[in-house]
Amino acid sequence: MECRFCGNNLTYEFIDLVNSPPSNSFLSKDQLSEPEVFYPLKLFVCDKCFLVQIDEYKKSNEIFNSDYVYFSSFSQSWLEHSKNYVIMIIDRLGLDGSSLVAEIASNDGYLLQYFKQNGIQCYGIEPSINTALVAKQKGIDVVEKFFDSYLATNLANEGKRVDLLLGNNVLAHVPNINDFVRGLKKLIKDKGTITMEFPHILNLIEQNQFDTIYHEHFSYFSFYAVNKIFKTHGLKIYDVEELPTHGGSLRIYATHEESEVLTLDSVKSMFIKEEKFGITKIATYSSFSEKVDKIKNNLLEFLISAKKEGKKVVGYGAAAKGNTLLNYCGIKKDLISFVADRSPYKQGKFLPGSHIPVENEEFFKAEMPDYVLILPWNIKNELIKQLSYIGGWSGKFITAIPYLEIL
Ligand SMILES: [Zn+2]
Repeated sequence: MECRFCGNNLTYEFIDLVNSPPSNSFLSKDQLSEPEVFYPLKLFVCDKCFLVQIDEYKKSNEIFNSDYVYFSSFSQSWLEHSKNYVIMIIDRLGLDGSSLVAEIASNDGYLLQYFKQNGIQCYGIEPSINTALVAKQKGIDVVEKFFDSYLATNLANEGKRVDLLLGNNVLAHVPNINDFVRGLKKLIKDKGTITMEFPHILNLIEQNQFDTIYHEHFSYFSFYAVNKIFKTHGLKIYDVEELPTHGGSLRIYATHEESEVLTLDSVKSMFIKEEKFGITKIATYSSFSEKVDKIKNNLLEFLISAKKEGKKVVGYGAAAKGNTLLNYCGIKKDLISFVADRSPYKQGKFLPGSHIPVENEEFFKAEMPDYVLILPWNIKNELIKQLSYIGGWSGKFITAIPYLEIL
């Protein structure tokens, strides 16, 4: 097997989460009695470019089918993050009514709506039909296709090159990273900027975030690796910011290599930070499995002892990362009786693999669980506020990552 970026032979394992169903394939009641498809979930690290990557992958059109249920607008904190970004970037790049902006994986228009509100022309690129439809209902133009260099060339030929091309949490989802980045370069104007946000693998390793590993993610990036990839395709990263989102992300700013834009000190600082962490040392990656095992054992110990004491434990937030955690730990509904979620698209369905039912918040309130395991720990603070009423029956919150904690 070869590195999807540099073609080097991959021999170093990062982690093997064994078999797992696609994490967003929620099941209907009828599907529970049908066979369920599992795929291997094993990651390697390339010892040349240090790109962490999945060893096999499903065809992307199998994962992003019309049943795909993630709507970005259901998270209030994500909406706020997006709005703040739009205000910041309009000012920073001096965007106005004559500018054009495009977003790759524009989902339900959660972000582009703010450009529209500010009078800036924009369009989204989104292959998922359901979410694209919601965006169009908001009056946002959507190109309903996967982004690749072919599409970028066509859009450029149609005069749709942009001043700003952005993509949040899309880079990891790309099977052919070389073709994708080649496409980025094609779609920006001569003075155009690309911003991309993606979870930083430094945080994934440091904070045991193995549950952010799923089939839909083909790659996991350090700044070191992403810089190499962009450079190879004629793009230079001139700024980088650290963000608290998704357990710690990077936002990179890139433009054409030949541009006169100066590279800021943040770039050098990030290289130094990663170097100190050991981002270019294989040992940094090969010790990860042991840390993950500890998380699994601690969580199982807690759940089993809670059960013995007759306590009721439920989950909150039927996020993809929850499925990775539950399936890797082998947790079924005997240990977590249900998971509550606000999204009507998930309620009444069952989690893939574990078959734990997804219930609405009314049901959750009526059940008055003793412990609530917060699955999307990245929005922990938001959820604790939203569900503070569990204190009324002395309910407590738990998180499993970065370590088991009763709050
Ligand atoms: Zn490589």
